[in-house]
Amino acid sequence: MTRDLGRHLHPTRHWHRLDDGRLQCDVCPRACRLREGQRGLCFVRARQDDEVVLTSYGRSSGFCLDPIEKKPLNHFLPGTAVLSFGTAGCNLACKFCQNWETSKSREMDTLADAASPETLAEAAASQGAHSVAYTYNDPVIFLEYARDVAEACRERGVRSVAVTAGYVCDAPRREFFARMDAANVDLKAFTEGFYRRICGAGLSPVLDTLLYLRHETDVWLEITTLLIPGHNDASREIEALSRWVVDELGPDVPLHFSAFHPDWKMRDTPPTPPATLSRAREIAKANGARYAFTGNVHDPDGGSTYCHGCGELLIERDWFALSAWHLTDDGHCRHCGTACAGVFAGPPGRWGRRRQPLRLGEAVPASRR
Ligand code: SF4
Repeated sequence: MTRDLGRHLHPTRHWHRLDDGRLQCDVCPRACRLREGQRGLCFVRARQDDEVVLTSYGRSSGFCLDPIEKKPLNHFLPGTAVLSFGTAGCNLACKFCQNWETSKSREMDTLADAASPETLAEAAASQGAHSVAYTYNDPVIFLEYARDVAEACRERGVRSVAVTAGYVCDAPRREFFARMDAANVDLKAFTEGFYRRICGAGLSPVLDTLLYLRHETDVWLEITTLLIPGHNDASREIEALSRWVVDELGPDVPLHFSAFHPDWKMRDTPPTPPATLSRAREIAKANGARYAFTGNVHDPDGGSTYCHGCGELLIERDWFALSAWHLTDDGHCRHCGTACAGVFAGPPGRWGRRRQPLRLGEAVPASRR
């Protein structure tokens, strides 16, 4: 049973008291130790009235209907619309952040749109979105809000999609992903040094999240690595990353290698050449990955799905838009009958590559808010 501590403050349970009187947040490995009135590094969890609270419950930085391929999820209800939303703050400090206006926000004014879990789920259902995505900033830091939205969605037949860096401790990890249907996990690199230097975090908890998702849940999993020239794009690193994925998670987990563009504190680093993405895709395929994609570029070949049985084209994609479709309604190759790994339900959706900002007040009939 939750207690309402105020309009946007919400009680949390993943914390404990230290001998010196500070409270330690146990949501992510940062383990912030808080005195009264202090906020954690993510900014949205804080100590107030001698407990750790979530300060952004029910507030969002905005809502948008997107193609599910934009998350990116290529094998989860392809062609359908997803209602994306996020809050403020983040528990990583990536110097290349592509969403820094939101994730680095210290201004709760960023959270302009208020939405109860029920209103959000109603909006998704009434707009024909098949799923809601917890994205823009890392949802593990607002897990109580994400959890309640996901439960409201489930009651309405709307699925939930986590877009996350997977930097989270075991108990909150289980609580959070128990409500998710799909996840795209950012595997930002394959060295501890990169995680420490560039993200202020660590690789090992992220690998634990990937192993947990693949082996202990039914959550559909895809992985994205943003390739940053000179930092994580060496062939040997991509070799090690893709070999680990195939060996530890299996060949069916789709890998997305996407293009970096200069942003936030890495504006002097050049954008990723398309050839780097193609090279990474080839390395992953050579290591046994059945589905490897290039992302953030126009590359119909690198963005499409091919049958691992006969090699024929199954789903043709170019930057979120689908064209050719050669799967049966239950996801088998029309040429040879081999199953394509993923979540497929009938013919593909027809959302296309549209991006449609949404005002929740207008999206939900007054009687259902
Ligand atoms: S979730 Fe936020 S407050 Fe909690 S440990 Fe992580 S950064 Fe610190």
